[in-house]
Amino acid sequence: MKYKISERAASLSPSLTLTIDSKAKAMKAAGEDVVGFGAGEPDFDTPQHIKDACAKALADGFTKYTPASGIPELREAIADKFKRENGLTYKPSQVIVSCGGKHSCYNVIIATCQPGDEVIIPSPYWLSYPEMVKLAGAKPVIITTTDQTEFKVTPEQLRAAITPNTRLFVLNSPSNPTGSVYTPAEIRALGDICVEHDILIMSDEIYEHLVYDGAEVKSVASFSQAHFDHTIIVHGFAKAWSMTGWRLGFLAAPEPIAKAIDAVQSHSTSNPTSFAQKGAVAALTGSQEHLPKWLAEFAKRRTYAFEKLNSIPGISCVNAKGAFYLFPNISKTGLKSGDFCARLLEQEKVAAVPGIAFGADDYLRISYATSLANIEKGLDRLDKFVRGLK
Ligand SMILES: *Cc1c(COP(=O)(O)O)cnc(C)c1O
Repeated sequence: MKYKISERAASLSPSLTLTIDSKAKAMKAAGEDVVGFGAGEPDFDTPQHIKDACAKALADGFTKYTPASGIPELREAIADKFKRENGLTYKPSQVIVSCGGKHSCYNVIIATCQPGDEVIIPSPYWLSYPEMVKLAGAKPVIITTTDQTEFKVTPEQLRAAITPNTRLFVLNSPSNPTGSVYTPAEIRALGDICVEHDILIMSDEIYEHLVYDGAEVKSVASFSQAHFDHTIIVHGFAKAWSMTGWRLGFLAAPEPIAKAIDAVQSHSTSNPTSFAQKGAVAALTGSQEHLPKWLAEFAKRRTYAFEKLNSIPGISCVNAKGAFYLFPNISKTGLKSGDFCARLLEQEKVAAVPGIAFGADDYLRISYATSLANIEKGLDRLDKFVRGLK
């Protein structure tokens, strides 16, 4: 049998992150002392009251289909969150709960993009964005940024990338993989250009609550009615509530787009898991006391990692104000990121994600969602590895 794979599926790039990750896991399973900087999720447990709400829902028999776009109680809690924290007024009908923030992104792209459309994506990018655009049959248009601008797109760069076919601009602040956070003025300038050219913005705000040094985060939707009308916000429970495995994300969109996404979801996944949604209600309406504790811990690790990375000859790193990643520049070592990471894992048993996975071959992604002791051990090994290259 000769299997025919659809052009769209065949066009996807396999995930380099997963290759390194599975190798690191295999080494660990074989008893080797591997330090992992690959984590894309907090190393803290989901807060207890969230788990309790989910367990109660399960015990109460809340185990059947729910409305495809989520239970009304949760959509209302999400609309309340946007009102309370962002000053944005969404009706619950404009809110769609999906099976993870990733699924929310996919829904947005599938519901708004088609062959002939272009989607502007700044690099370094979260690796799924361009692949999702390809799955929709549309074309990713990459704007390259570097550490010289703290990995932020300038208004000039955005203007230069726009064509009559531009449909969507993807904004992710705080960013995965760089941790970079746009200032409100910078966000506004980019939003203004999209409004002027009538381009939709997909604003991935999943790291909204994970910021340091008093960085201010402001949603692009919040500057004016026109900005609001051009924006779809993607968010989720994975990061600030450490619920990656729960598979729960959400989005808020202008009414016609929300309606289209509701239809897409009703014919693909249907509702996200019923009892998990009850946990999510508790996440939004219950205590947020865990967050300052997590942030204090992340901040300590970030400072240590930032200073240590910059003390290694050949490595330079801009400090990042958000998420839980640093994105050091390795170009002076003379190695490209894939080679660097493969050899680092082989020789020193340290797993980092090569920047090439995010469209940036001169960098590594270092996640500090791991203990300070691990970070110290892993960066000492990285130091030794780089010094040994000479
Ligand atoms: C983690 C993440 C998401 C969503 O992850 P889910 O586990 O699907 O909720 C979305 N965007 C970015 C940039 C992320 O890092």
